[in-house]
Amino acid sequence: MNNSRLEIAQIPVLSDNYLFLIHDPTSGETAIVDPAIEEDTVAALNARGWTPTHIFNTHHHWDHTGANLALKERYGLTIIGPAADRDRIPGIDIAVGEGDQVHLGDIAADVIFVPGHTSGHIAYHFAGEKVLFCGDTLFAMGCGRLFEGTPDEMWSSLTKLMSLPDDTAVYCAHEYTMANGRFALTVDPENPDLKARMAEVERLRADGIPTVPTSIGIEKATNPFMRPMSDHIQETVGLIGAPITAVFAEVRKRKDNF
Ligand code: ZN
Ligand code: FE
Repeated sequence: MNNSRLEIAQIPVLSDNYLFLIHDPTSGETAIVDPAIEEDTVAALNARGWTPTHIFNTHHHWDHTGANLALKERYGLTIIGPAADRDRIPGIDIAVGEGDQVHLGDIAADVIFVPGHTSGHIAYHFAGEKVLFCGDTLFAMGCGRLFEGTPDEMWSSLTKLMSLPDDTAVYCAHEYTMANGRFALTVDPENPDLKARMAEVERLRADGIPTVPTSIGIEKATNPFMRPMSDHIQETVGLIGAPITAVFAEVRKRKDNF
C-alpha cells in the first residue's frame, strides 16, 4: 500500500499502541510519531540505525507523549505538536494547527485540525506520499472516544479525513480493530464489505498480524463512524432520516456502552 518516498516503521508498544518512525532516506531525517515509552523507541531506532530529528505529537495523552522529554534530552530533537494543546505537550518546540506544514527533509505534511477525542488533536497528512498519521481520531472500523469534544466536532473532523484520497494509507495509533469490527457489525450487519473485512481481520489477528495501516477507502466502506448517512445504519439504530450528526452521536453512544 505504501509506495511513498518515506520509510515507515510500525512498532507495537504497551498493550495496543503503535509507535511509528518516519524516515526520509534522502535527508536522513527521522520523526517519531507519538512516543509513549523511551526504551521501546530507542530500541526501534537503533535496530534501523536511524537518529531521530523530530517528534510529531497528535495529542496530549500520555500514551502519545510519555517519552517526549526523555527523547528530547537524549537526542536534542525538535518536538512538534498541536497549538491548541501547547500547554499539555511536554517539551513542545513548534506548535502547529490547521493549514500549517511540517517537513521531513523536503517531504511535507499538512497539519489537519481534528478535535473530538481531545480538544487540540491534529493529524499529519503527507499528501505527496498518500500517508496519514491520525493518532486517536480515526481507527480501523472505529473512532476515538469523545473525551474533550462533541459528536458534531468529531463528525466534522472525520469528514475532513474522508475527503482525502481513498488510497491514502491510514496509520492509526491503536490496534483496536477486532473490537471495533465486532461493534460495527451490530450497527451495520448487512454490509458485505464489513463482513468480508471482519473475516480477514479475524485471520490476521489470529496470527498476530497488524491490521494497521488501513486506508481511507476501506474505512469509508466499512467504518460505521464514517457511514452515518447509510440508510441501513440509520434503520438499525432507529433514526431513519435524522440529521447525520444525530446518527453519528447515537453510533458513538452505542460504542461507548458496547
Ligand atoms: Zn488518546
Ligand atoms: Fe491513545
